[in-house]
Amino acid sequence: MPNYDLKCSDCGENFSVFVSIKEKDKLTCPKCGSKSLTQEYKNVRVGKTGSRRRCRGFT
Ligand SMILES: [Zn+2]
Repeated sequence: MPNYDLKCSDCGENFSVFVSIKEKDKLTCPKCGSKSLTQEYKNVRVGKTGSRRRCRGFT
């Protein structure tokens, strides 16, 4: 199952969940129970910046 990094728009809680895409719509914040969740893409962003800097250093 895919791993999602989510953030609650109401209380600002960050959490990760392992669910199918269908179940993702039913998710609620574990802290306040809100359904206003936004998906975060931290891993993608960090990976891109890291590899770019390494290439620069070698050239
Ligand atoms: Zn919340």
